[in-house]
Order: sequence, then C-alpha cells, then structure tokens
Amino acid sequence: MTRRSVTEHYPDVQPELPPRSRGVIGLFEENCTVCMLCARECPDWCIYIDSHKETVPPAAPGGRERSRNVLDRFAIDFALCMYCGICIEVCPFDALFWSPEFEYAETDIRELTHERDKLREWMWTVPEPAPLDEAAEEAKELAAARKAADKAAQAAGTDMLAAHREQPAQETAEAPGTTERNGTTEPSETTRRNEATEPKPKRRPGQDAQGGGTE
Ligand code: SF4
Ligand code: SF4
Repeated sequence: MTRRSVTEHYPDVQPELPPRSRGVIGLFEENCTVCMLCARECPDWCIYIDSHKETVPPAAPGGRERSRNVLDRFAIDFALCMYCGICIEVCPFDALFWSPEFEYAETDIRELTHERDKLREWMWTVPEPAPLDEAAEEAKELAAARKAADKAAQAAGTDMLAAHREQPAQETAEAPGTTERNGTTEPSETTRRNEATEPKPKRRPGQDAQGGGTE
C-alpha cells in the first residue's frame, strides 16, 4: 500500500528485458547439418524437419563420393513450445539461438508455426554474446585461428630473411674492386683510393711506360 506500483505500461512503454530472455528461437540455417538432434530431444515434439540426401562428387580424382543432407523444411510450433531451451543446448553446430523478441502473438494459432524463413528473420534480433570473463580460456576456434596466423607470419618472415641473405651474395658476385653504377661497371671507391695512394714504379731515364728502353 505504501509502495509505488511497479506495473509497466506496456505497450506504451517497452519493457527492459535481460539480453538473454527466452522470447523466440532464431535459426542460423548455414550451420544446420540436419542432424535431427534438436527434433529428437524436444520434449514437446514441436520441431519439424524435412530433408533429402544429395551426392557430392569426390574432392580429388579417385576419391569417394560423399552424401550430405539438404534441409527442405525447418519449423517450430510456438503454440506447443514450452521455451525450455533444450533444442538450443543440444545443437552441436550452433544453429539455434534465443532472441528476446516476444511480440508475435497471432489470432490464428496456425500462424504460430514459424517456418525456416521466419526463423531466419529472428536471427537479426539475437543479441551479441556477452564478453568472456577475463580469466576464461580462449575459445578453441580463436586459438586455432591465431596459431595459423602466427605460422603464416613466421613463414613470411623466414622468406624475407632468406631474400635478405641472398642480396649480399649477389653483391659479392660482382668483380672484386668494381661497382655497378648507371648500368656500367666502374672501379669501386676503395679501388680508386688505393690506386691514388699506391706508389708508382719509378722510371729510369730512357725507359717508357711499358718498361721498354728508348732508342
Ligand atoms: S525450447 Fe524446448 S519445447 Fe521449445 S522447441 Fe526447443 S526443445 Fe522444444
Ligand atoms: S540440432 Fe542443430 S544442426 Fe542438428 S538439426 Fe537441429 S538445428 Fe540443425
């Protein structure tokens, strides 16, 4: 009597629901392998799945043909569903998610059976997962992706190192004491300096540059 009423004025005021509220189930079809686990575990038998098998040609010549299930129908009857969440828990491929959306009341009960297109539409209303606890282990998928990226970076680094090592080898392949400049081979700076400081052989009077005598 002394407290204020906590009645929310829905639909004029939208309620503030926790992000993990069990409103409706969204289907991420690409992840579904038609394993039927969700339909088998549902205590209300309100998940309807139809599929057919397709043969996939071998990936490499001489390989074996494989068959895979293709989804034809996926529907959930929300008139029967009791929102227990077992289907979401048991799905091994993360194809089902809770969405907090709840405004899908119908005047015709048959409209409460949501087919795959409608279940996919609910996926856009699924909130982002909460961030992991700081002390939590890294997700296996992230750890594997990080390991692959590190390996690729290491391989790229080794290639660069090898290229760097080859470069000085090319430089020493040039004639010793010469250097490549503007497409022509010239004596290197050191050679020129040595030539300038090297003592020239003294010529005797009557001797030419080749060391021969003059007549
Ligand atoms: S939430 Fe429970 S009752 Fe509803 S479809 Fe999933 S398993 Fe069935
Ligand atoms: S359990 Fe998941 S993968 Fe298997 S049929 Fe159901 S939604 Fe698809």
